[in-house]
Formats: sequence, structure tokens, C-alpha cells
Amino acid sequence: MSKENNDHFMPDDSFRDSIGTISEDGKRKWVYAKKPKGKLYDYRSYLSYFFLGLLFAGPWIRIGGEPFLLINVIDRKFSIFGEVFWPQDIHLFAMAMITGVVFVVLFTVVFGRLFCGWICPQTIFMELVFRKIEYWIEGDYKHQIKLSKQKWDAEKIRKKGLKHLVFFIISVGISNTFLAYVIGSEELLAIQMGNPLDHIVGLLLLLGFSGLFYGVFAHFREQVCIAVCPYGRLQGVMLDRNSVVVAYDYSRGEGRGKWGGKNEVRSEVGKGDCIDCRACVDVCPTGIDIRNGTQLECVNCTACIDACDDMMLKVGLEPRLIGYFSEANLADKQSFKITPRIMAYVAVLVVLVVVMGAFIFGRTDVETSILRTPGMMYLKHEDGRIKNLYNYKMVNKTNENFNFNFKLVDLEGEIEMVGQKMHVEDKGVAEGAMFVIIPKENLDGRKTKIEIEVYSGDRKIETVKTNFMGPG
Ligand code: SF4
Ligand code: SF4
Repeated sequence: MSKENNDHFMPDDSFRDSIGTISEDGKRKWVYAKKPKGKLYDYRSYLSYFFLGLLFAGPWIRIGGEPFLLINVIDRKFSIFGEVFWPQDIHLFAMAMITGVVFVVLFTVVFGRLFCGWICPQTIFMELVFRKIEYWIEGDYKHQIKLSKQKWDAEKIRKKGLKHLVFFIISVGISNTFLAYVIGSEELLAIQMGNPLDHIVGLLLLLGFSGLFYGVFAHFREQVCIAVCPYGRLQGVMLDRNSVVVAYDYSRGEGRGKWGGKNEVRSEVGKGDCIDCRACVDVCPTGIDIRNGTQLECVNCTACIDACDDMMLKVGLEPRLIGYFSEANLADKQSFKITPRIMAYVAVLVVLVVVMGAFIFGRTDVETSILRTPGMMYLKHEDGRIKNLYNYKMVNKTNENFNFNFKLVDLEGEIEMVGQKMHVEDKGVAEGAMFVIIPKENLDGRKTKIEIEVYSGDRKIETVKTNFMGPG
């Protein structure tokens, strides 16, 4: 490690050639992270209680009789905040996805991996649930190291056995919750309460997902963020000099040197504020040294900020040697500024949100399509009028079932249904066929644009446009 001057910190970049959790011979280096403590850890814990409560309660919350959140890909039914969406709303999903991606990019450009440290379910479960249980059963990192080195005696079997049992039970809980979001809480209850032989597939799914979650949190752990998560891997292209990330203030901290007592004036002996205690390294759950600069492995969990603040206060130096900084803050002493890149993303985001809002507010509870039957030409009615055969399809997104009828708008003519009952069930679909009959003199030639109103009793639900073919 070297430092030419405060403005041009030149770390030894060789650490970038390898991942901190993989040894030179390619083996996994297990991370024994010291238990974090401090204000930011407390805030993250409080936030995690809120998100965990929401996550586990989510499948059981109903808004207007509909699930708070349901992503039932099997029955193609989706509910967000109690609002039901159908496959016909796929354009809304596409818009929501695009808006979400732009938002994530914008957020990352400005705030780096803030999401990873504070909101990501992987970090919340790993750092604020499973690791807390590990500290509770096995003790802090030094006890964990000792336990892993000791032979399989009664203490080790008891502690490891209890830890993995608790891990698996929580994984089963996560798996059940995950499945409830996919198939719905009623269906999940039916699987849990019913005869296992009637729900073999559901039970196998539960077991499979439980095993997967257990494997991730008990064994794979930080590797998800380092090696699998695409968001983490995209950081390199999204971050710039103005992005705010968890960073070490090298201009203040270098050259690092051991604490020489409270009477030592560090600047006089050529030392920076970093007392090289390695507390920031010990707490890091991804096994890196933040003093090397921004790294792919850093999930911005803030544990190193808390650890360093604690050290700084103990030795009477200013806290936030590690904190939320951008490279422009550190190298150029610039405060946060809005760059053209941020403005461009915001402009795109605003347009997307406006378009999305228009789609959502323009969305109807009942959606009807009326299309001429493919391959059918116009027909002549026995009284000489012209008739066209249509197929209609009505999707009812409401919780009410109702009878409906059609009316031709502003044109002399008639609608003749082909047999079927004009009724649609709640959240159901009605399909059928009908003739539209119009006198020839009322047509505009070969193709006439017509409008058909859809009624439930006396209430007009919507107006559908279609084409009517005539002899010309
Ligand atoms: S470097 Fe700091 S913020 Fe990044 S993962 Fe390690 S402890 Fe968390
Ligand atoms: S915790 Fe702070 S003082 Fe200690 S090594 Fe890390 S940066 Fe330096």
C-alpha cells in the first residue's frame, strides 16, 4: 500500500485479481465476520423488522378482498396492493419493468449500492437474521473460528446441530411465504392442512425451496452477492465519480499507522487518521478491506462505518473516516452535484411514470374486444340488410358477476346474439358470437367504422370500436 499524496491515492490493485473469499488454490475462504454494532447497524435492524413483518404478513393481508401481493404465474393472476391484474394488462407489467429498471439505474448512479445494504432481501436475511442467530448460538467471530477448528465434541455437535436446525426451520418459513405469494395463501393452507397425498407437487416444491433457501443462507451466503447477483455485477458500469458509496476517506486516513497514544500528534509524525486497527476488515461480511477502494464485493452494509466510528471515538479522533462518500467528495472535495447523466435519467423516468400513470388510470374494470369472425365475408339478411358476424370476449376484473348487453351507437341497425347467455362471472371471461345488421344505405362503402356500447343493465360500461364490411 502506498500513497503519493492526498489527491492521488494509489493503492496496490493486486487484490482486484482475485475474490477475497477464494484462496489462491481456488478454495472457499469462509468469512467469520465480527458482530457489528453501532447506530447504522441499529437502524438497519429496525428497518429489517419492518420489511420482515411486511414480507411474512403480505400473503395474508387482503385489500378489498384481494391479496396485498400475489404473483400467481400458474393461473396468470396478479394482485398488487389489492389491485388485480390479468394477462390482458401485460403492457402495464412491461411498462412497470422498464420504469423499475430506469429507477434502479438512476438510484444506483446517485446512491451506489444503498439498496443492497438496506433493502435487499438477501442482505436482510443473511446479515440481520441468519448471522444474528449464528452469533446467538456460536458466539462472536473468534468463538466461531475456535468452534470450527475444534474436534467434533459434544459442544460442537450441539451448537452446529442447533444452528442448522434453526436455519432450516426459518428456511421452511421463507419457502412457505414465497409459495404463498405464488399460489395464494388459501392454496398454501390447503397444502399444509390437506392430505399430503393430494398435494405431492406442492409439498415437493415446499421442500425444494426450503432446501434452496437453507443452502443459500447456511452455505452459499455472501457468494450470492459476489458471484451470482447481476445487480452487483453491473455496478462497474453504473457508478461514476459522483456516485455516493460506502468509502474510506483516504485523504484523511493515509498514511495509516498504529495508535501511538493520546499525546501523539499524528500529523507531526507523518501519520493519517487510520490507526490500522483492521476493525473495518473484521466486521466485513464479504471479507474485503474497504481501504482498498470501491470493490465489487462491497454490499454497502455499513458495518465498517460503525466499526471505524467506534474506533475513532475511542482514540479521540473525528468519526466518519469511513462513510458515504463519492470519489468527487474525496478527491476534489466537491459536494454532491447533479450531473447531466442524472438529469437524463430523471427525464426518462418522469416520462415513464407519466405514461404508466395514464395506463393505470385509463385501465377499465371490464375489457371487451369485438372482432369480425376471421374468414367470414359480409352476409345478406333476408330483408336485404347487410350483416357481419363478430366474436366478442369480455374480461371481468371486478368481484361482481352481471348480465350485459350491446347497443349500436349512432347507426340504424340491430344486434342479434348467437344463442349464448349474456352473463359474466366475477373475475371471469365471457365469450360468444353475434351478428350486427345494418341497412346498406347507412354504410360508408366497403368498410364502415362502427361503435358498440356495452351495458350492464342501464349502466354503460364501455364503448368498443370495430369495422363493418359491406358490398361497397
Ligand atoms: S466494505 Fe464495509 S460496507 Fe462494504 S461489505 Fe464490507 S463492511 Fe459492508
Ligand atoms: S477501522 Fe478505521 S481506523 Fe481501523 S483500520 Fe479501518 S479505517 Fe483504519
